[in-house]
Amino acid sequence: MKLLSLYLLTFAFFQSSWSFSYDGYKAYSVTPKTLGQAKILKEFEDDEHFDFWSEFRALNSSVDVMVSPKAQLDFENFLSSEGIDYTIFIENVEEKIQEENKRQKRSALVTRGDVSFTEFMRYDDITAYLDKLNVEYSNIAQTQIIGKSFEGRDLYLIKISSGGSNKPILFMQAAIHAREWIAPPVALYVINQLVENPENADLYQNVDWVIVPVVNPDGYEFSHVDTRLWRKTRTPGTICAGTDGNRNFDYHWMVTGASGWQCSQTYAGHSPFSEVETQAIRDYVLANKENIKLFLDIHSYGNWLLYPWGYTTDPPDDADELQALGDRVNDAIAAVRGTTYTVGNSNILLYATSGTGPDYAKGVAGIDLAYTLELPSGGSSGFNPEADVIESVVEETWEGLKVFHDYVLERYLQRQ
Ligand SMILES: [Zn+2]
Repeated sequence: MKLLSLYLLTFAFFQSSWSFSYDGYKAYSVTPKTLGQAKILKEFEDDEHFDFWSEFRALNSSVDVMVSPKAQLDFENFLSSEGIDYTIFIENVEEKIQEENKRQKRSALVTRGDVSFTEFMRYDDITAYLDKLNVEYSNIAQTQIIGKSFEGRDLYLIKISSGGSNKPILFMQAAIHAREWIAPPVALYVINQLVENPENADLYQNVDWVIVPVVNPDGYEFSHVDTRLWRKTRTPGTICAGTDGNRNFDYHWMVTGASGWQCSQTYAGHSPFSEVETQAIRDYVLANKENIKLFLDIHSYGNWLLYPWGYTTDPPDDADELQALGDRVNDAIAAVRGTTYTVGNSNILLYATSGTGPDYAKGVAGIDLAYTLELPSGGSSGFNPEADVIESVVEETWEGLKVFHDYVLERYLQRQ
């Protein structure tokens, strides 16, 4: 009987998969070498047959784009005629997604309240873990619901603090882009290491950590059950659903690098802060802006650590400081197993993006240290690193994030 139910359970796991099929979709890696090439490639961004997995950051730096079967031949001819180098690194995206599906099904076996760094957790399991910490470590960990998602999910934040008031806050958020599954584990590992590893108790004596592991839970869940590569929120549109939360903040909204076309992956929304998820982040950040010293927005992928501005190529006044700190973070990550990031601001970047969280944090809330972290990719295995490398990614990233802590102590604590 036990065996039979185990069989049925296993069978049930392998039955469910995503509704949307990427059969025949290919993933291309293209490398623009001139501004002209980059500009014409950029024009494909609003085309529904093209999905850019990584963003245009610099010349001679490859960009990954998934192309639907219908558009592949024309695209390849176009690249050849323009002399743009490309390789196809995934011949059939659906195959990769099904491989991921088989691995992912194990996550249904995660015990409620536990955290896992060997599979990508579902949102309910993530919040169950936060709830457990809130109960078992109530002296240092407090959860807070900062709003509801469009579909009514609680938006969870967890604060890790030794108590007291007016301490500097390190604010981190992940998964404003739904499909970037490697981002929540990084946030969860920070939480796990601070709360459950007593060796790290020093790290929250003088600063508070505030972490939102999944900003966009509706999209995140949709990417688990319906459309694996869903990026946006799930607000309905007249033609296409969803807004890019990271173009929806009200700071130079829709100025550049954002789309007014609702089917675009970078649709900025019908108005600034049209999304309840970005409203919740805004409200928390503004209410705590005097104390928040770091705003870190965790994404994937491409190994970039970027500071404002996104909306303009003019660097901020404190660009030297942001660069130096970013370099220190990169050094700490690289020391673990050699993973390196490119640290930079708009000056080294190809195209601006406006309405982002970090731009808002710096430009409106006045938080000096604002960064976007683009974690490593999965390369030929698909959008994310495979589940069995989550551990190494979260461990190396944690070493970098501790540098932010040390810096905030050096920079702000002495002055209070
Ligand atoms: Zn992203």
